[in-house]
Amino acid sequence: MKKLWAWRFDVSVYVFALAVALLHLGVFQHPLVGYALSVSDAGSNALVNVISLQVLQIALMVSFLLLLAAVSVTLAKIVATAFVITNAIALYFMRTYGIELDISMISNILGTNTRQSFDLWHWHIAVYFVVLGLLPVIAIWKARIRRPRWFASLAASVGVFAALLAFLFATSFTWLWYDAHGTRLGARILPWSYVVNTGRYYNKKAKSNREQELLPDATFTGAAPAGKDIVVLILGEATRAANYDWYGYERDTTPYTDDKDLAIFPYGDACSTNTIGSMACINTHEGREAGSRTGYEPLVSYMTRHGVETIYRTNGAGEPPFNATSLMRGSEVVAECAGDDCPDPYLDGALNYKLGEALDASEADRILVTFHHTGSHGPRYSEKYPEAFEVFTPVCRTVQVAECDQQILVNAYDNTLVYNDYLMADLIDQLDRIDNANVVLIYVSDHGQSLGEGGMYLHGVPPAIAPAEQFEVPFFIWMNDAFKQSRGLTTDAIVTDVTYPHDFPFHSVMGAFGMRSDIYKPEYDVFNSEVQAN
Ligand SMILES: [Zn+2]
Repeated sequence: MKKLWAWRFDVSVYVFALAVALLHLGVFQHPLVGYALSVSDAGSNALVNVISLQVLQIALMVSFLLLLAAVSVTLAKIVATAFVITNAIALYFMRTYGIELDISMISNILGTNTRQSFDLWHWHIAVYFVVLGLLPVIAIWKARIRRPRWFASLAASVGVFAALLAFLFATSFTWLWYDAHGTRLGARILPWSYVVNTGRYYNKKAKSNREQELLPDATFTGAAPAGKDIVVLILGEATRAANYDWYGYERDTTPYTDDKDLAIFPYGDACSTNTIGSMACINTHEGREAGSRTGYEPLVSYMTRHGVETIYRTNGAGEPPFNATSLMRGSEVVAECAGDDCPDPYLDGALNYKLGEALDASEADRILVTFHHTGSHGPRYSEKYPEAFEVFTPVCRTVQVAECDQQILVNAYDNTLVYNDYLMADLIDQLDRIDNANVVLIYVSDHGQSLGEGGMYLHGVPPAIAPAEQFEVPFFIWMNDAFKQSRGLTTDAIVTDVTYPHDFPFHSVMGAFGMRSDIYKPEYDVFNSEVQAN
């Protein structure tokens, strides 16, 4: 017995790193592969996706452990031990409760509710801990690792990582699959799910704790409004100008707003091709100059601080942290809806739900409503609208959009625009019924979208090489009669020759409320008749 306890074995650092990686494949990847198979199409795709995941896991683990071993072999052992023990416990919870270790789960675990989570413990966890955790850890510490030369270990680490990048580029046809399922795959890949999401959790916390720089205090011109001043700002998602009939597209993608007297501005360039970058521009007074990590007080917080009631309904994410009077996800907006004609909680129709009634009931003089749409977010466009809006057929239904004929992909995308147009018309009808209020609606998209032009899909290509489709976004405004009369404006008169889609919203919202401060830029206020007349 004593002899057995004293027994050790020799391995090279490379065999050690590979063995730990293979342990992960053999023991800890069940939830990951199960999910990967469930979201793979039949046939060769499933195989390719799973093989790709194996390569990814081996390369990440080997590269990471060799990097640590370049510093110290003991450090590599300690980290491997922490991974294996944590994995064993995580696997128990993942298999027993079907949980995923995404950022919200990590916030739950690290947040204040840890005591409640002890309710979930069961003696079975000891089996996982001993068999899948302790036994491999004993093997890790029985191994006598020959100390590598630090530069050899470092070079091998970099080499493995470079090989992984080369592999990923060579199999770039899997990217769309990763893009579509990345969040949920990432929440199941042990140990990286909890490593990365714990990092993200603390990063997010630090970011929201960082003091935002307040904008200068503002004043409202004129007396308090007779009736309510209401501004509705719609932050669209991935709707591109190229597919709007207003801008010359051959299909009628906006049939519902034909009689709505919209002020349709020329299309203009988004400030970035991704949601976070564009949200920073639209939501701050800096407009297109804003960096994606801007520290300035965003529009909604600015309004809230000045006594405007701010209602925020969202199916999206990515805006700078803000304070709103009320903030709800679509699913929360329709939570109390009962019956057959309730909107799907995950589609944008949920945001429209009974908005007019809420505004009627409000006692506030000034109200800013913001919607953040899920809109035309790809790649599964066919799931972004209710069935009744499938007017262009047939449609692409797979996330492997490159496999679809381009026209059927465009069909699915165009249906999302038709649905969006229906929602705008419905919203305008609701707003038009509110008595004794000056109302404007402003719509802007965050960025455009590629639908296979030049082999590109989705969005987010670096600006220097992004195609026009990813930049060019629609911009339009609706005003009720009371607002037009009170300002002496007409629909035609406010339309400018050039659109600054990510500069207009902030300053035009200020303008619509008659709000002024040092950061207000009249040239970006479309309701400023003196400027528009020039
Ligand atoms: Zn977006």
